[in-house]
Amino acid sequence: MAFTLPPLPYAPGALEPHIDARTMEIHHGKHHNAYVTNLNNAVAGKPEENLSIEEICKNISKYPMPVRNNGGGHFNHSMFWTVMGPNAGGAPSGALGDAINAAFGNFEEFKTKFNTAATTRFGSGWAWLVKDSSGKLVISSTPNQDNPLMDIAEVKGTPILGLDVWEHAYYLNYQNRRPDYCAAWWNVVNWKEVARRFA
Ligand code: MN
Repeated sequence: MAFTLPPLPYAPGALEPHIDARTMEIHHGKHHNAYVTNLNNAVAGKPEENLSIEEICKNISKYPMPVRNNGGGHFNHSMFWTVMGPNAGGAPSGALGDAINAAFGNFEEFKTKFNTAATTRFGSGWAWLVKDSSGKLVISSTPNQDNPLMDIAEVKGTPILGLDVWEHAYYLNYQNRRPDYCAAWWNVVNWKEVARRFA
């Protein structure tokens, strides 16, 4: 198998009460697992089987839709698990905190703009904090399982924080209340990992 499901780096219930254990179990064990399985099926016997998921994303326009959807799904979720964690939340400090203040004014302004990107994404998709090619931080959102690494993305760069706003990410606990999920999610953001990706 070219691609494998990374283990969840904490227990499924570790993000409660903000994200419930059952949602995490299904999201990781069923949804992410299906992206991995379908990606492996889509690349089987092809050269891209030996590429990293990042390399595939960067040239995604060369590949058929199953690779885009499932490859994006695999990259996005692999990142998503790591930028959350127990005993997290708060605000970033150091170079990342400075860069957020420089780009958005202050942390509260940043959160407001990010939440707007997340709550106004129509249908399924993601909100992102992206480091662009000049090193500047920008906020974007993508539909479906697209991401800022992809050559087809409107805003391109290195994603350092992503929020999954597919209904499967929140429906059991929040039903149609996406804004409540987005607001609660800040309590589980692992800024240490985001800072590592920023550096
Ligand atoms: Mn998801």
